[in-house]
Amino acid sequence: MDTAKKKDIRALTKEQLRDFFESKGDKPFRGNQVYEWLWQKSAHSFDAMTNVSKETRQMLTDNFVINHIKVDQMQRSKDGTIKNAVRLHDDLVVESVLIPTKTRTTACVSSQVGCSLDCKFCATARLKRMRNLNPDEIYDQVVAIDNESRLYFDRPLSNIVFMGMGEPLMNYNNVLKAIDKITSPEGLGMSPKRITVSTSGVPKMIKKMADEQVKFKLAVSLHSAIDEVRTSIMPFNATFSLHDLREALEYWYQMTKSRITYEYVVWEGINDTQEDVDALVAFCGFAPSKVNLIEYNPIDDDMFRQASGSALEMYVATLEKNGIIVTVRRSRGKDIDAACGQLANKS
Ligand code: SAH
Repeated sequence: MDTAKKKDIRALTKEQLRDFFESKGDKPFRGNQVYEWLWQKSAHSFDAMTNVSKETRQMLTDNFVINHIKVDQMQRSKDGTIKNAVRLHDDLVVESVLIPTKTRTTACVSSQVGCSLDCKFCATARLKRMRNLNPDEIYDQVVAIDNESRLYFDRPLSNIVFMGMGEPLMNYNNVLKAIDKITSPEGLGMSPKRITVSTSGVPKMIKKMADEQVKFKLAVSLHSAIDEVRTSIMPFNATFSLHDLREALEYWYQMTKSRITYEYVVWEGINDTQEDVDALVAFCGFAPSKVNLIEYNPIDDDMFRQASGSALEMYVATLEKNGIIVTVRRSRGKDIDAACGQLANKS
């Protein structure tokens, strides 16, 4: 059989794999064994499955491929951050990042090749969306970073953020399937509480997540709580307005009682006035919230400049006065273009 026509075996659920073995006159239990090799042990080839007979391995080779990702290039920042350029089976490339701190290792993973949104301040937006990542391609990025964490920092991965390339809620089904594998004891067995999905805010999908009672955390890239300002820097806001976003977030909180985190960059002349911070307070005051003030990572553009320290202080003071938790987040991995918004397959 032509390789191009063979199916990626990791697109199958465990049930489907069991059925496949049964249809070949074998025991369904073989499906469990192979499934464990594919997910828990991250086997890259059928030949690695040593407790499976040679004939069965050949039969699998005849029917399927294992489309494993390949870390093509690894760059290390002076602050310890690692960026992987990850080659997919069709030769497209995405990036993922390992961010170490004293106590944690966080994986920042991609959900799409490129991105369909057009945030003016983000380097990934310039790549346009080429395709969605499959669940196994998302899972493999996490496994690769877990391995690097063990190798270079002597500890397993502790947290995952979907803040790499792409808009996770525009590849919702695959992101959820990947998270299922990451949290399942048959995969990595990680707690969903250690996973954050970051979105520019797709109201319909936020409501769907609320309905499905997902257990991971939600972060919203807000950057402005004033429609005209937000639309000017995140043009899709013209379609998904702040009103709809707010309504979806209220629903999310009502259903999950889970705190919402907002990501926010303060730019000079764009959102650095008292009016901007007052709008932010009014927007997120309805539920327990946390605002992460992210440092701007320049992307060769004259339009955006990080606001002054005094503007940041005004944000911090006003948010705190209103009982909103606020953190000022320093960028990591800037020297290797691994910081927020810098992932653009430059290498
Ligand atoms: N599409 C998702 C996840 C990817 S972006 C989302 O929008 O949330 C991850 C975070 O980096 C987002 O909060 C995004 O707004 C922010 N970001 C994008 N470009 C940036 C830049 N140049 N500097 C700082 N943060 C940036």
